[in-house]
Amino acid sequence: MVVFRSALEMQQWALEQRQAGRRLGVVPTMGYLHEGHLSLVRAAKELCDSVVVTIFVNPTQFGVGEDLERYPRSEERDLELCRGLEVAAVFMPPVDEVYAGDASTVVREGVLSQEFCGARRPGHFDGVCTVVAKLFNITQPHVAVFGQKDYQQAAVIRRMVRDLNFPIEVVVAPIVREADGLAMSSRNTYLSATERKQALGVSRALKAAAEQVAGAGRVVAEGLKSQIAGELTACGLQVDYVEVVDRDTLERVEMAQSGCVVLVAVFCGQTRLIDNWVM
Ligand code: AMP
Repeated sequence: MVVFRSALEMQQWALEQRQAGRRLGVVPTMGYLHEGHLSLVRAAKELCDSVVVTIFVNPTQFGVGEDLERYPRSEERDLELCRGLEVAAVFMPPVDEVYAGDASTVVREGVLSQEFCGARRPGHFDGVCTVVAKLFNITQPHVAVFGQKDYQQAAVIRRMVRDLNFPIEVVVAPIVREADGLAMSSRNTYLSATERKQALGVSRALKAAAEQVAGAGRVVAEGLKSQIAGELTACGLQVDYVEVVDRDTLERVEMAQSGCVVLVAVFCGQTRLIDNWVM
């Protein structure tokens, strides 16, 4: 496994791999890898000859007062996990290798990124789109694998790839959960033992909602949202948003039914957690 900290060296390696006829996959991450990330690597390996994992805590997608400084990091452990999965290359750049001090170009998706997490975290998806576009240029992949865990992000990136004609196949892999249902996240490490129990309320409420919709066929979305929000609050969670949207357009729907996704963001203590469930 080769580890690159230089964008130019990473790009040269990727171009050589392509010239040698190898199909390249990329898995962009912010590190502190867990089974969710590793499932994306495995999905990429199924589809590609060589997999590149990028590990970069991207400052431009964090808002003022968010957790950029304390975001968990574990370089050596991450590299070990990548080696264990026979990842071909890891791109682990310092911030100044990705952003010139006077960088003045931003990639902005203007529709799918505007609501939900985009509205709650102004500038977040501009940071995501900009860094992902840059990582695509640096790693030259045929395939890029993202997680359904960040449902809106995956939709925004799909749209960016379409709109900007990136010659890249975007694959979205299912959410990996802990045995008790909590969606895996690097941020789960922030949770105290009490918060960890409260956090379980998110997947429990989503699962119950999905069962209700599956049983009834159609449920009024407003009622379902209030019910989910009530369950989250009862668990001691502070609701950031609960939305029922079309799985493709992310437009709000009046009736929750098959083809919808419920998107949830909560604060569990100081920690913001997101999860979703496709109906
Ligand atoms: P992050 O390091 O949190 O930026 O996540 C990097 C990639 O891993 C994103 O595409 C996420 O959607 C994906 N990911 C994070 N957590 C999970 C999970 N529990 N299951 C599946 N994919 C995940």
